[in-house]
Amino acid sequence: MQTQRLRIAIQKKGRLSKECQDLFKRCGIKFNLMGERLVVHAENMPIDLLLVRDDDIPGLIMDGVVDLGVIGENELEEVGLERAALNEPCDYTKLRRLDFGGCRLSIAIDKDEQYTGPRDLQGKRIATTYPQLVKRYMDEQGVEFSPCMLNGSVEVAPRAGLADAICDLVSTGATLEANGLKEVEVILRSKAVLIQRTGEFSADKQALIERILTRMQGVIQAKE
Ligand code: ATP
Ligand code: ZN
Repeated sequence: MQTQRLRIAIQKKGRLSKECQDLFKRCGIKFNLMGERLVVHAENMPIDLLLVRDDDIPGLIMDGVVDLGVIGENELEEVGLERAALNEPCDYTKLRRLDFGGCRLSIAIDKDEQYTGPRDLQGKRIATTYPQLVKRYMDEQGVEFSPCMLNGSVEVAPRAGLADAICDLVSTGATLEANGLKEVEVILRSKAVLIQRTGEFSADKQALIERILTRMQGVIQAKE
């Protein structure tokens, strides 16, 4: 069901939400996010903001339910690989990389354990929220592993005896250190990105997207 209004999906609450909201506000889109609404109408442009869990954003774009979305590359690539494996739609267009949400997806092991390279992970069980990205990396390295899928508390898995290693998002490394782990491989460097669904757009929507992109260019340059 396509609407005349441009639909943009952003994270409702979390590490990307404030910077996302600020970015679109600086692009001149006026909206009021008071309350618990899923859809917020912009006051001065034919735009609706959809406030959702970040996990849902890649699928909403790949299914063509929303027109634009802001998402971390880690989540975007994980969902893309998962959908490709299931033969589900997984196309999208990356419009631009943004200047926030920076982090890395890294493998970490017990800080007292020896490490010389990916071969040391042969046959190990790796706890992660990103099984597809871990598998892609380990396949590239020609190293076999067992997954341990966790949507939270990944960093405590080794201490809890659930896994030998973890693969999780890191920004400062403080969480790893607090859990007696050391970072041994970076498998992805991620930032937030603006993505667009594939397929046709009305001339009006296309013009609006171009206007937003032009403004975004100015906003991001002004910050640099
Ligand atoms: P939601 O409730 O929307 O599912 P979430 O808990 O999955 O939220 P957040 O923790 O808010 O997600 O992280 C969202 C994104 O922020 C991550 O996918 C990643 O791209 C980015 N990010 C930046 N730094 C970090 C970090 N240190 N740890 C986790 N994510 C980070
Ligand atoms: Zn999430």
